Amino acid sequence: MASIPSTASGIASAVSSGSVSARTVVDAHLEQIAARDGDIHAFNLVTADEARAQADAIDADIAAGRPVGPLAGVPIALKDNLCTHGIDTTCSSKILEGWKPPYDATVVSRLRAAGAISVGKTNLDEFAMGSSTENSAFGATKNPLDLSRVPGGSSGGSAAAVAAGFAPVSLGSDTGGSIRQPAALCGVVGVKPTYGMVSRYGLVAYASSLDQIGPFATTVSDAALITEVISGHDPMDSTSIPQSAPSLVGAVTQGVSGMRIGRVTDLPGGAEPEVMERLNAAFDALAAAGATIVDITLPSLSFALTAYYLIAPAEASSNLARFDGVRYGLRVNAADTNAMYGATRAAGFGDEVKRRIMLGTYALSAGYYDAYYGKALKVRRIIAEDFDAAYKNVDAIVIPTSPLVAFKAGEKVDDPMAMYLCDIYTIPTNLAGHPAMSVPFGTGAHHLPVGMQVLAPALGEAAMFRVGGALEAAGGAQ
Ligand code: GLN
Repeated sequence: MASIPSTASGIASAVSSGSVSARTVVDAHLEQIAARDGDIHAFNLVTADEARAQADAIDADIAAGRPVGPLAGVPIALKDNLCTHGIDTTCSSKILEGWKPPYDATVVSRLRAAGAISVGKTNLDEFAMGSSTENSAFGATKNPLDLSRVPGGSSGGSAAAVAAGFAPVSLGSDTGGSIRQPAALCGVVGVKPTYGMVSRYGLVAYASSLDQIGPFATTVSDAALITEVISGHDPMDSTSIPQSAPSLVGAVTQGVSGMRIGRVTDLPGGAEPEVMERLNAAFDALAAAGATIVDITLPSLSFALTAYYLIAPAEASSNLARFDGVRYGLRVNAADTNAMYGATRAAGFGDEVKRRIMLGTYALSAGYYDAYYGKALKVRRIIAEDFDAAYKNVDAIVIPTSPLVAFKAGEKVDDPMAMYLCDIYTIPTNLAGHPAMSVPFGTGAHHLPVGMQVLAPALGEAAMFRVGGALEAAGGAQ
């Protein structure tokens, strides 16, 4: 029997040409999950029966000569904050335990229409709040490269699933770095597209002005392929950009000859020395590939973290008000309605979610609104202006994804500030609405992967994938 390719594009061409069946592909991945996910806990739920049935349907289409999609037979794992029709969607929260959405997220239906097969729902920090996937109500996810370490977060289950070979690709959501940071810590590729490029319809909202869905993959080309499939206008999301999906796969091998790539000279500190060493190696590799490295400044970058931790909790405090024990999931009965709300939320939300709701409610309260939320919005605008000025002189910017390699489980759970600082390099692009991706670029301490982050202006995905492809081609060498 033909062996199973490791990439999504390889699987799709093998399945559609009939050299391997979709069922064989799905069974092989389900076997891997059964063998190793007990230790890793990438999944909240494995949808084995649904996956096998879908694979059989694709094989029947192929046998009958009917056309199949560009992702025919490709197993994919979905972050458990993406709505899946009739299938539990928990956000790793007790408050949503047992809730089955009555509809699919737009990204889920687009992937299915392309022939991709969901193998399950992946673990996350509760409601996507966190950087280590230790804030899940259903237990932490472990980093497949070293089980004593975290996979990053909040999409740690999706990153771990790809790193462990449970699926060649997965989807996450990124509000302040939740795709890119776990991608970096697990040694895989992770992409946050331009805000509005991918529909948020059916993504359980955390901070609506920042949330974007994007892929994890083992190659830059697979990440581009998934981005193409899930992008494009959706009338069900009022912030969806009214244009069709761009072509991106071709950009990956285009090279960076003639491109101007920014090096930020006033990058906020805190990165481990080996991360900075990999950053320098990345610039050497890009220069060797024909790019011009241009020094730039982004003076407002050091204020991004503070602004984000006002804006994101403020939006979260409003978005999470819908979980009141009436409409979804858990209800804890009490003497009257108000007591029922309180008892449901006290039992249903974890500590970090409660912390964010309190922070956000405070930042929005009368008397503090201007001082906190209003000021954070001004900082957000200044950050966007700094980027606009920089992009007059460069086509893309390269900075580290995470200041740290994968850290030990338990190391930061009692120190929210230390956890928040993991996002220092990923948050600015969410505030600006720009695309960014993390590409593995060699290893640092303890032979753990280091991710380089490629930033580009709004709708600059093609430039971003050119640089990402060049970094991948350089292989983290030097
Ligand atoms: N770690 C950040 C937070 O906790 C980002 C999370 C995310 O992007 N969803 O808010």
